Amino acid sequence: MKYRLKDFHRNISDSDLLGDLKTVAEKLGTNKLSSREYNDNGGKYTSGTIAARFGSWNIALEMAELSLVHQREVSKEELLENLEHVWISIGRQPVFRDMRSPISKYSAHQYVVKFGAWRKGLEAFVEYINSDYTKEENVPVTILKTEEAFKHKTRRFPSERLKVQVLMRDGNKCRLCGATLIGDSINFDHITPWSKGGETTLENLQILCNNHNLAKGNLEYPK
Ligand SMILES: [Zn+2]
Repeated sequence: MKYRLKDFHRNISDSDLLGDLKTVAEKLGTNKLSSREYNDNGGKYTSGTIAARFGSWNIALEMAELSLVHQREVSKEELLENLEHVWISIGRQPVFRDMRSPISKYSAHQYVVKFGAWRKGLEAFVEYINSDYTKEENVPVTILKTEEAFKHKTRRFPSERLKVQVLMRDGNKCRLCGATLIGDSINFDHITPWSKGGETTLENLQILCNNHNLAKGNLEYPK
């Protein structure tokens, strides 16, 4: 038997080796990575190094897959909250291809896996948004001195859920000029100003562009 040099990467930790195995497997979209595929597709180490460390290539694969299984699963709630965030940042109902980084933390594919279909994910979302939110809004408020005259029943700033409800009702257009808005240019304006006792409710919120939001200040516009 020929003498073989010992593991060159002796200082590399087990988790680094397994991590690289997973990286290459994910890149190729497979769970059944062969040693040859690993070597040919940018593995940082050699399959021999990995096999030597764990006893065999298959044991290494098993260990890597095991930790894949242990990866935290994304819950439906997290997916719905993410959709809430995406809806608000683009100002409209997201389509499949909107669900990508950096706007979305999760791919549309994850919604398909969790809800059965992209459309079903959206349906679950609409139900979630339209479910009762009053509890969440009615948290006691610390009232600023200047606002002491009004005892608000709601928080000053709308929750993400309420924002989506306003967007669902009005679309992402300024109520005054009709400009189509996205991201930071979407302002959720109190029709009756907060400082004049207006509450943070669906009925009292409207979408305004930056210009109209600034111009409005504390003035009241007719509904
Ligand atoms: Zn406007």
